[in-house]
Amino acid sequence: MPRTDTLLAGPELAGAVERWGRTRVKSAVRAAQQRCRDGALAPESVAESALAALRGPPVSGRAVVNATGVLLHTNLGRATLADEAITALTTAAGPTDVEFDLEAGVRSRRGRGALAALAARVPAAAAVHVVNNNAAALVLTATAVAAGREIIVSRGELVEIGDGFRLPALLESTGARIHEVGTTNRTSAADYRNAVDENTAMILKVHPSNFTMTGFTAAVDVAQLSGLGVPVVVDTGSGLLAPEPALPEEPDAASALAAGAALVLASGDKLLGGPQAGLMLGEQELVRRCARHPLARALRADKLTLAALEATLRAGRTPTSTALHEQADVLRVRAEAIAAQLDGIPVSVAPSQAVIGGGGAPGVPLPSWCVELPERYAQPLRTGADPVVGRVRDDRCVLDLRAIPAADDTRIVAAVRACG
Ligand SMILES: *Cc1c(COP(=O)(O)O)cnc(C)c1O
Repeated sequence: MPRTDTLLAGPELAGAVERWGRTRVKSAVRAAQQRCRDGALAPESVAESALAALRGPPVSGRAVVNATGVLLHTNLGRATLADEAITALTTAAGPTDVEFDLEAGVRSRRGRGALAALAARVPAAAAVHVVNNNAAALVLTATAVAAGREIIVSRGELVEIGDGFRLPALLESTGARIHEVGTTNRTSAADYRNAVDENTAMILKVHPSNFTMTGFTAAVDVAQLSGLGVPVVVDTGSGLLAPEPALPEEPDAASALAAGAALVLASGDKLLGGPQAGLMLGEQELVRRCARHPLARALRADKLTLAALEATLRAGRTPTSTALHEQADVLRVRAEAIAAQLDGIPVSVAPSQAVIGGGGAPGVPLPSWCVELPERYAQPLRTGADPVVGRVRDDRCVLDLRAIPAADDTRIVAAVRACG
């Protein structure tokens, strides 16, 4: 077993200490020595293996192919950015004019380009603001508008967003009190009307974006609530700025504002197809109160986010909208072309069903096509050099094409072939 000091001073690792630092190189060497002791590595390969680990692909943050059939998969980072947004990210990696007016040579409003692009897409919004994500938009609104007072919410809309985070707990963390109205399945206009009093700071409407309720149900429209004399805040979740004909049940910012909402909150990385962000659109006074609240500084959007958001809003078309609107027949042709390139592998092509996911259009199936393999392919595909994440159904590894840009079909072919 080569000694650590000898290895660190040797020719193979020359330059490594300078580049990565002594601590990191030493720990890579120790790990390689352990593999050698375990019999998994020849003694003469220890230095080379340590170097490979230092140079190797990142442990996380790796690119994957989303073959799950879930367009906005929260575990896979939700929306894929448009090319324009990716270019904007690269530019924004260095110093930028995010908060500077080049013409006048003075400080300017942070992210004014992104804010202007958002305002241009939703003319009904008198003012807009952008924060870190939609949960931040909710917290900021509740803090600035309702701390120490009451938020009226329908019991049927007190939802859990995911990963154990629940809306009521999030809202109450701000010092606002929740005044529940109605029942799980039915809430009426009278329930809201009777609840409004001098303690009421706002009414919150939350889109049940990750479940559906059918049967004996009733909910109240924004239009019916906007006349009650208190601001109506609408958490649409999904990030549609205008109606989307393909998803008629999904709420959008323009319609909510037209119906009298004082403020609309949404995510940037759901159906809008942009980076993680919290969009706030509405009345001048309300948006200003939120944007000027001290907490706003702790929730502010990063310059990379603002750059990608502006580019997304200006681009219009995103990989998410392309995936949503792609004809099923086109997916079938792609699936057949992939299968045709997998000679000698037990592959088949079948129809499947994709979904929006990530808090959007629950219960709306999107007809799709997939490539099916034996279940034993699922694990090696996930852990390969270019990971492909599919789903397992009835002992089959299902690779659904709807969430995958056509240009990535070659990645699937290569990844399946690499499984041997
Ligand atoms: C997704 C969602 C949220 C949380 O948004 P993030 O951007 O993930 O913080 C909140 N409310 C609704 C209705 C949602 O769909």
